[in-house]
Amino acid sequence: MADSSDHALAARVAAETGELLVRLLENPAANGRGWHSIEYTGDRSAHEFIMRELGRERPDDIVLSEEGRDDPARLASDRVWIVDPLDGSSDFGWSDHWSVHVALVENGKPTAGAVSVPGWDTTWATEPTPKPIMSRVGERPRILVSRSRRHIDGRLLAEGLGAEVMAVGSAGVKAMAVVRGEVDAYVHGGGLYEWDSCAPVAVAEAAGLVACRLDGSELWFNKDDPWSPGLVICKPELVEGITMVMSGRR
Ligand SMILES: [Mg+2]
Repeated sequence: MADSSDHALAARVAAETGELLVRLLENPAANGRGWHSIEYTGDRSAHEFIMRELGRERPDDIVLSEEGRDDPARLASDRVWIVDPLDGSSDFGWSDHWSVHVALVENGKPTAGAVSVPGWDTTWATEPTPKPIMSRVGERPRILVSRSRRHIDGRLLAEGLGAEVMAVGSAGVKAMAVVRGEVDAYVHGGGLYEWDSCAPVAVAEAAGLVACRLDGSELWFNKDDPWSPGLVICKPELVEGITMVMSGRR
C-alpha cells in the first residue's frame, strides 16, 4: 500500500511540474516553436519531467501518461502511476484553468495522488488531507460541468435538481473547486480518460468527498481500456440526487 513517501512524491512531482509550466508561460521565447504550439511544448516538457522524476524515484513502477505510450505491462503491475502532465491544455496560456495530475493506483484504486493548480497557487494531495478553504451558503446546489457538455449535463442538473450550473475547463480544476468548497459537485456526463479523473478522485476522496460513476457505481482504474464513462465528484449529501438525475432515474 502507498506509504507517506508516495503521497509526498505525488505532491512534489505535481507541484514542480506546475512550476515548470509556469516558467514556460513566463518565458514563451523558451518555446522554440512559437506561441501557437505552447500547448504542445507544455504537454511534452511536463511529461518528460514527470517520467524522469518517477523513473528515478520509483524505477519498478509503471507510468500511464496521457502523453506517453501505453505499456501493457501495467495490467499485471501492482503499482501504476496514472498522470496527466497538463490537463486542460487548451486553456494553457489563456486562462488559469489547467492543472497537473499525478496518482498512484494499486489494485484498481488510487491510493496516493496530487493535483496542482498553479493558477490558484496550490497543490492538493492525499496527505496532508485537504481541508475546504471556502464555505458557501445556499439552497441551490452549485455544480460544475464541462464546457463541451454544458447544454446536456447542465440542463439535466438544472431541471432535475434546481442546480446552479457553471462550466470551466480542466477536470482537475473542476474537482479542486469542489475540494476547496467553492462549489458542491463536479459532474461529467460523457466519457473521459483515466488520467483526467484519477488524481482528482484520489484527492477528492481524501478530502471526504464522494467519487463515483454516473449511476453511483464504483470507479476502477488501470483498466485495459483507460476510457471511462462519466464521473461524479460531490459532497456526500448530493450523491443520491445527482446519480438519479444523471442515470435517468429521475
Ligand atoms: Mg493532458
